[in-house]
Amino acid sequence: MSDNGYKQIVILSGKGGTGKTTISAAFASFENDKVIVDCDVDAANMHLMLKPKSEKSHEFSGGKKAAINNEICIQCGLCETVCRFDAINDFKINHLKCEGCGFCFRVCPESAISFTPSIGGNYFECELEDDSKFFYAKLFPGQGNSGKLVSEIKKSAINSIKENSLQSSNKKIASINNPDVNGGKFIIVDGPPGIGCPVNASISKADFAILVTEPTLSGVHDLKRLVELLNTFKIRMGIIINKSDLNESVAEQIKDHATEKNIPLLGEIPFNTEFVKALIEGKNIVEVDESVKKDLLKIWEKTKSYIIN
Ligand code: SF4
Ligand code: SF4
Repeated sequence: MSDNGYKQIVILSGKGGTGKTTISAAFASFENDKVIVDCDVDAANMHLMLKPKSEKSHEFSGGKKAAINNEICIQCGLCETVCRFDAINDFKINHLKCEGCGFCFRVCPESAISFTPSIGGNYFECELEDDSKFFYAKLFPGQGNSGKLVSEIKKSAINSIKENSLQSSNKKIASINNPDVNGGKFIIVDGPPGIGCPVNASISKADFAILVTEPTLSGVHDLKRLVELLNTFKIRMGIIINKSDLNESVAEQIKDHATEKNIPLLGEIPFNTEFVKALIEGKNIVEVDESVKKDLLKIWEKTKSYIIN
């Protein structure tokens, strides 16, 4: 159980382009009592669909960066020799290469190198039309600490739940307005693509993971890696096959893998051009196609039956 009775659901796919964010935004729209987090800090796009009515920007301290004061430097070359990341050349530091290890700062005999915190990006605390909170972030180019930023926005999302003492009375009013709602409190996390450090940060404390895959060989490969990762962290999961009719024999391979690993198949969504259209127009798919909305609502209700039981 996550904070204050909120179940944390993370939606993942091994790579981009599987429809993960579209599906996450749709699921989020079915619930009233929720906090949404877009953890794709390198290429956030969920805010384009959710269209927050307000947002507050916060700076993200991305770690420390070194800088040489050339008025003090005696050009001994020691810093260049010790830098394992080849970030120093001609007594200048390339900030795109600097990993912030601080070694140069410690060895400089003239104390000519400063080592100070740098701003690595921004994260945004937003409010949606239905008054729920939504968090997303943008890491500056060349910054390598996306995992830390993912942890930061998740922490802010959880803190927002704890701080919002008026929440339950507000939600009672909101739930009357959404006939699709069938109870529950959720932190809905749209995970980053891949299986690297940001994904590890996004699944921390998750109650359940939804794996969105597509029937391609790379889709199967990525899915298997994610299943292994989630099993390592003992996180329960279910699978959605998007564009399920693209290749029926590969879709069967996915279903076989799900059966073998005892993972429930939450649903299949046939290829639908409305997904792309909604993405281009910056709309939630549930506003665009009523039959897709019905299918996704069915899948979400099935998912909830696994989350709650
Ligand atoms: S170690 Fe210090 S003094 Fe030597 S080259 Fe680097 S910055 Fe200059
Ligand atoms: S902080 Fe580390 S990575 Fe950055 S320039 Fe110094 S030695 Fe190289």
